[in-house]
Amino acid sequence: MSYVDEVIARVKEKNPGQPEFHQTIDEVLESLRPVIERDEEKYRKMALLERLTEPERQIKFRVPWIDDNGQVQVNCGYRVQFNSAIGPYKGGLRFHPSVNIGILKFLGFEQIFKNSLTGLPIGGGKGGSDFDPKGKSDMEVMRFCQSFMTELFRHVGADTDVPAGDIGVGGREIGYMYGQYKRLTNKYESVLTGKGLSYGGSLARTQATGYGLLYFTRALLKLNGIDIAGKTCLVSGSGNVAIYAIEKAYQMGAKPVTCSDSNGWVYDPEGIDLEALKEIKEVNRARLTEYKNYRPNAEYHEGKGVWTVKADIALPCATQNELNLDDAKALVANGVIAVCEGANMPSTLEATKYLQENKVVFGPAKAANAGGVATSALEMSQNAERLSWTFEEVDEKLCGIMENIVANIDAAAKEYGMDGDYVAGANIAGFKKVLDAMEAQGIV
Ligand code: NDP
Repeated sequence: MSYVDEVIARVKEKNPGQPEFHQTIDEVLESLRPVIERDEEKYRKMALLERLTEPERQIKFRVPWIDDNGQVQVNCGYRVQFNSAIGPYKGGLRFHPSVNIGILKFLGFEQIFKNSLTGLPIGGGKGGSDFDPKGKSDMEVMRFCQSFMTELFRHVGADTDVPAGDIGVGGREIGYMYGQYKRLTNKYESVLTGKGLSYGGSLARTQATGYGLLYFTRALLKLNGIDIAGKTCLVSGSGNVAIYAIEKAYQMGAKPVTCSDSNGWVYDPEGIDLEALKEIKEVNRARLTEYKNYRPNAEYHEGKGVWTVKADIALPCATQNELNLDDAKALVANGVIAVCEGANMPSTLEATKYLQENKVVFGPAKAANAGGVATSALEMSQNAERLSWTFEEVDEKLCGIMENIVANIDAAAKEYGMDGDYVAGANIAGFKKVLDAMEAQGIV
């Protein structure tokens, strides 16, 4: 059996009941096959893939907190410190009832290559909790965040591990966690990114993942001789990534016509009303059912359905495995030109394969949504020099990073004879720097 197949089988056997982790291992190792097979015996001897697929450290802890009725609640907290070969662990914290160790390992593994692709010195990690901030009061969220940090603080630090936001963790949660870290350690340091502007945050961090996705999409389309201006876009989700993807799509002359949340989805043929969406989600923290109050002519549907609408570009920005084979078939039947992933692993393996086989330009998450973590790293740089850059400076750097990623993944795909396969290109380009650092640092 080839070394790659051996390791895929062993990882699945050693990590039962973690389907999302298995899925990313399948995808990534499969596309690293040509790199590994160039020197298979050497990598087998140094157990390169075993070390790459085993997190350096996994922390699991109890998070007790008291709700507004005086009832004690207990959630699970996690931090997976996956790989620090090229820099301190870096990756978001997710608060969602679906969070478990398998999902965090999938996200942490992807993060290694994504962070490498940014060209910045950051390793891969991910964490979170099965706590659901939805429906909780501000004081409940604060008490939870304080309790969560009361354990996490001993494992993180500006040069060790620097978490950020993800699903369910936005500016409010980062603020509460930062306050507690400072109180516990007596240190004002860059231990978290996505901070508020008054205490060390970076301009353009809020917008970065969504804007970065569009810079990436525009550059990838250009590489394929297509102009993004005038194109219709499908966006799923209505959180941080989706909102700023919609904003930048408009700025580029494209028209986003859908968005969604976990209850339903909106189709607004005239283009999503961005101000209404921001008010519903960012100000009122409400459901998308309210969208019709602002735009009576738009359609609201319960359940899932964004991918059934005819459009040129699809931008999944909600969560993992939200775009399956049937969705991919519907998109292809409707003549979609490109799918670029704003969320992490939103397309199933079958969907990705189908889209690629049908010549859809496919931009994988670890490249397409790297703008968030890249800007987080820029926040760390600003904190280190105790300066703040202007919005334009950060945005310009972000745009440059995303365009570089497109050039690098295209070059890596070509180097290994897989022209146009940006999934392989992203995995290979991200992997090579990590491989180099791991080899240089010996068996650790
Ligand atoms: P938010 O919490 O701000 O928004 C998430 C959105 O997705 C919400 O509209 C939410 O709906 C929807 N959603 C979440 N889970 C589900 C589900 N199981 N089914 C259907 N809809 C769901 O998160 P972000 O926008 O920050 O993150 C979105 C994706 O982007 C995630 O995959 C995240 O890992 C990825 N990402 C985020 C980055 C960032 O900087 N924020 C950076 C890189 C990647 P509802 O409100 O109803 O739950």
